[in-house]
Amino acid sequence: MNIFEKIITREIPSDIVYEDEMCLAFRDVNPQAPVHVLIIPKMCVPSTNDITTDNAFLVSHIFAVIPKLAAQLGLTNGYRVVNNCGADGGQTVEHLHFHLLGGRAMDWPPG
Ligand code: AMP
Repeated sequence: MNIFEKIITREIPSDIVYEDEMCLAFRDVNPQAPVHVLIIPKMCVPSTNDITTDNAFLVSHIFAVIPKLAAQLGLTNGYRVVNNCGADGGQTVEHLHFHLLGGRAMDWPPG
């Protein structure tokens, strides 16, 4: 069981900011912006490479949640959503997740 599955089952604590039947959002332990939240599906999908027509509803659900969550977190001036996939993408936890970053202006291009 990876660390995000343990967060879903409450085996390890996290600062949860949103939850519903399909997804969970909690604050990143190593924030890269004043607001840095991870949104994950409760169903285990290891990475973006594993998104299929059968499970893509989880992604559309998460992206429907993101604007509400951003508003809840006070990100009225915009935000960034990031997904890291695989080694070159910088993915360190093999459970699909989207970073919601805000509270400051973001740089482009990312490093
Ligand atoms: P990624 O590098 O895209 O796979 O992102 C994984 C993220 O999970 C990193 O930003 C970590 O800081 C974050 N992270 C790892 N363990 C925890 C934890 N226990 N609670 C919250 N965030 C975590």
